[in-house]
Amino acid sequence: MPRRARVKGNEGLRCRAYGHPWIDYGWLPMIQEGLRMWSQAFECGRCKAKRHDRRAFRTFALLRRRYELPSGYPSRLTRAEALTALVEGQEEGGTIKSIQGEAVLGA
Ligand SMILES: [Zn+2]
Repeated sequence: MPRRARVKGNEGLRCRAYGHPWIDYGWLPMIQEGLRMWSQAFECGRCKAKRHDRRAFRTFALLRRRYELPSGYPSRLTRAEALTALVEGQEEGGTIKSIQGEAVLGA
């Protein structure tokens, strides 16, 4: 049974490739400029990015979204570029061979 190598690359790169696993820190009702809305706070369990959403009180329509990204976060990379960087990191560790081996076994 081939062993899978540990994913290489920093946490930010993994979040850029896979998306952030958000932890919900709750909903706060608020009034801004006479409008009732929800303020929601989230934190990424992996890279510690923060997300702040404002939603309309009744419809939950997204009014505003703001991110606080950790230093070094690869925000300039597209998702495909981040995935490529992760796969290339694994290739150095020999995992691509393992994945091919599994594919042959499963065929
Ligand atoms: Zn993240």
